[in-house]
Amino acid sequence: MIGAVDIGGTKLAVGVVDEDGHVIEKAEVPTNPARGFDHAMREISALLRECALRTGRPLRGIGIGCTGQVDSATGVLGEVHNLPGWKGGNPVAFLCQEFGVPVALENDADAAALGELYWGAGKSHTPMIYVTVGTGIGVSVIHDGKIYRGAGQCHPEIGHHVIDPSGPLCTCGVRGCWESLASGPAIVAWIESNAPEGYACRGLTAREVCCRAQAGDEWAKRTVEHVGYYLSLGLANLVNIFAPQAIVLGGSVMKSAPLFLPRIHEVIRENCTLVPSARMVITLASLGPDVALIGAAQVWHHRFERCGGRIE
Ligand SMILES: [Zn+2]
Repeated sequence: MIGAVDIGGTKLAVGVVDEDGHVIEKAEVPTNPARGFDHAMREISALLRECALRTGRPLRGIGIGCTGQVDSATGVLGEVHNLPGWKGGNPVAFLCQEFGVPVALENDADAAALGELYWGAGKSHTPMIYVTVGTGIGVSVIHDGKIYRGAGQCHPEIGHHVIDPSGPLCTCGVRGCWESLASGPAIVAWIESNAPEGYACRGLTAREVCCRAQAGDEWAKRTVEHVGYYLSLGLANLVNIFAPQAIVLGGSVMKSAPLFLPRIHEVIRENCTLVPSARMVITLASLGPDVALIGAAQVWHHRFERCGGRIE
């Protein structure tokens, strides 16, 4: 049994995951960034202890997926814009001390990618790129069954590659990042600023825009077409740069995947003429809503069983 922890901007989730990637117990609480890192760690420890008690089995270790920049080698959190004040916190050291078991940490997109690679839709596909489209766009590149890491073992920020320099200002301070044009908030922003006066879009969510598009609403359809084009362009860039064997698509926006997939295939076919894109698989994530916990458990297996405790 592996303890799994998902640290996100809106919720803290914990679970106990068996050796085959099944979530046996789980619990979650809303994230309250203002109460600080130590408070969150105490909440996580208490929830995880309760979950483990309910299974009646000891934890062999704990895997963590965390939003934003994390240092996988030291366990220290970097700058995470939706967790202000948490920079420098070390969930690995905290949980290691609390539970007395080995603990491993990765960025949440990398964690989900490992989950999909070994227990889900990415099985046997490598190189594989996992893309999660939700509040932001998270990307993980898996090569040779391992996470691609940049300088100093950093997690590359592919969601912030620029698609349109004249585009909207992104949370990272740059204009026209992929995430600013093709995430859930981008869907809402586009319909709000383009639909005519009188069109009811107050308090609309990305999910609702997609539902309206499915029902044939003209402005929702235009929004999906516009945002879908930028989503597709970013994916086509990844295909040209990495020539992956598979792209696995997850995240809340992909719950409406049928609205986006035909355009994605079309743009990749048009833009990727020099790589064998026809042989590439584009598939939807298969681990469902528990992907973050399953991925976090896989972080532990990957680090301690496949990589001998090293960062690879
Ligand atoms: Zn950005």
